[in-house]
Amino acid sequence: MDFQQIKDINNSSAMPTYGRYDLAIESGKGAVAKDFNGKEYIDFTSGIGVNCLGYADEGWANAVAAQAHKLSHISNLYYAEPTAKLTAELTAATGFDKAFLGNSGAEANECAIKLARKYSCDKYGEGRNEIITLISSFHGRTMNTLTACGQEALHPACFGPYPQGFVYCEKKLDEIKAAVNEKTCAVMMEMIQGEGGVIPLDKDFVTAVCDFAKEKDILVIIDEVQTGIGRTGKLLAFQNYGIKPDIITLAKGLGGGLPIGACLCTKELGSTMAAGSHGSTFGGNPIVCAGASYVLGKVNNEAFLAEVQEKGKYLREKLLTFKNVKSVRGMGLMIGIEVEGKTGADVVKSGIEKGVICLTAKALVRLLPPLNITKEEIDLGLERLKAAIEE
Ligand SMILES: *Cc1c(COP(=O)(O)O)cnc(C)c1O
Repeated sequence: MDFQQIKDINNSSAMPTYGRYDLAIESGKGAVAKDFNGKEYIDFTSGIGVNCLGYADEGWANAVAAQAHKLSHISNLYYAEPTAKLTAELTAATGFDKAFLGNSGAEANECAIKLARKYSCDKYGEGRNEIITLISSFHGRTMNTLTACGQEALHPACFGPYPQGFVYCEKKLDEIKAAVNEKTCAVMMEMIQGEGGVIPLDKDFVTAVCDFAKEKDILVIIDEVQTGIGRTGKLLAFQNYGIKPDIITLAKGLGGGLPIGACLCTKELGSTMAAGSHGSTFGGNPIVCAGASYVLGKVNNEAFLAEVQEKGKYLREKLLTFKNVKSVRGMGLMIGIEVEGKTGADVVKSGIEKGVICLTAKALVRLLPPLNITKEEIDLGLERLKAAIEE
């Protein structure tokens, strides 16, 4: 098929849920993507933070292929080696006690929501079920996680009724304190709001919220779906904040390109979800877990993470020298660029013509390059992005 055929077939058969750019990628290697005409692009998106080791990483592809040849799926009625191995590696790497594996970020957050409510119900009885989330947050597209998003625009009346039990607050301690009552069981937040516009939370705010939550026995859920697995230069973004959450969720980068989500919790919450309380047909799929084990082995390494920090710093410093760049924010390889006089979408479209693929986040240009992107790939991508931003 050529590009036009793919586009036509897709548009005549797929629900029009996505506003797609005029581009289809045929293959890729590292941070370089190739379209159906053979044109090459530097990919600063990693498929929205998913391909954290870039396209077609040799070790990852081998791990996935070997498992596909051995055992693809068995169901959670039985034990599977790659699944057991990944949960052990995840808990060891993160310091959490127990993990549940699902297939996406939204599912990881669904598990976190159920877990927080059940823990609270077991301890305090029914009715203590409200979860505080922040304005501009994003937590997923299932009905619960969609409702959890602190963005009015995501809650049109046509999708209602929405589930109950979510309360939205500005990033202000006073507002959170005022919103807490006998029904509050958890507060859920992203350390850097990704979809909301690459907004890093203030350290003092986060620490104060966590202290207050501890005082009230309110659980702290950190949504690390976008920020986790090395994205910010630490394995987990909350490690930049010196806090200890009760529950975290992971997804995007964890599978290195295959669908996976994980919800992890502390020892105190570890036995809350008893047999039958939660599940997933595909959760813990052996092929996906084999890929995720490989990713975790690569990323959970001090030298690797130090390079993510260095590359992030290098990118941010270069970007600040570009004409029209008003500000640059983010951490590690999660970067938001505020461009004067242009929308993020303008820059992204122009970037595609020039051979660089970027994301938007609200009005900003957002970069989530593969964590192992090379210096040469960064420089080539920056040269093209500079042209798109400065024109
Ligand atoms: C992408 C994202 C989600 C949703 O993940 P899906 O895999 O699309 O369900 C949830 N939370 C955050 C912070 C995200 O960035």
